[in-house]
Amino acid sequence: MTGVVKRFRGGGSDVTAVDGLTLEIAPGAMVAVAGASGSGKSTLLHLVGAIEAPDEGAIEVDGLDLTRLRRARLAEYRRGLGFVFQRYHLLPALTALDNVIAPVLPYRVSFDKTARARDLLAAVGLSGREGALPSQLSGGQQQRVAIARALMGEPRLLIADEPTGNLDSATGAEILDLLAEIRRDRGTTVLIATHEQHIAAACDRLLRLRDGRIVEDIDLTGGEEPASTLARVDGLRL
Ligand code: ADP
Ligand code: MG
Repeated sequence: MTGVVKRFRGGGSDVTAVDGLTLEIAPGAMVAVAGASGSGKSTLLHLVGAIEAPDEGAIEVDGLDLTRLRRARLAEYRRGLGFVFQRYHLLPALTALDNVIAPVLPYRVSFDKTARARDLLAAVGLSGREGALPSQLSGGQQQRVAIARALMGEPRLLIADEPTGNLDSATGAEILDLLAEIRRDRGTTVLIATHEQHIAAACDRLLRLRDGRIVEDIDLTGGEEPASTLARVDGLRL
């Protein structure tokens, strides 16, 4: 992503939620986006997820310039992503299994939907709970269902907006471990917004935002040098 600006108009005044971000993320990386409430974390994730369009700048993912895509191609791009939110957003009347299947239900896919959903529920540690309704599951279990659902379309990029925000710290740490495991086993690139400090432990890069700008970019892989925000990495370029 290059020189990206996103403004919102509200009550007569403009808010610059993202203010000239230039950033590149390596494929397969697990990146935490930290910063105070209102610093632009969600907006950054929405821009990468093509939920919002930038006012200025370009966003390129896997060689695809999102700002130049037509509506139908954007929808297709979005379907290829996995989203996880703070509030799970499960459908209350559907079982865990049906919630996981829901995103691909309208589409013709090359795999057996039920078998894949079962496998994913097993992968997130919920074997045996396929028939449970969200109300019968704990917060951590509901977030596991949401993560399984996000993986249903085999995304190369998983976008998680404060996925542990509603959970106690022990459960939140388990969810982070799960995301790290998914990234390790599947090579999924993971982008996580959080205002919590401990999330960084599971990640290999920490970006800190303030007023829509990157004020810190830290390599957590054991390297000593802060990763340059302009470092060029082949592959997934945001
Ligand atoms: P964070 O996720 O770090 O809390 P956000 O990206 O949600 O920050 O918000 C960044 C800024 O943009 C805030 O000032 C917020 O009020 C504003 N903002 C975000 N979304 C909207 C919107 N849809 N309409 C108006 N203002 C918005
Ligand atoms: Mg937010």
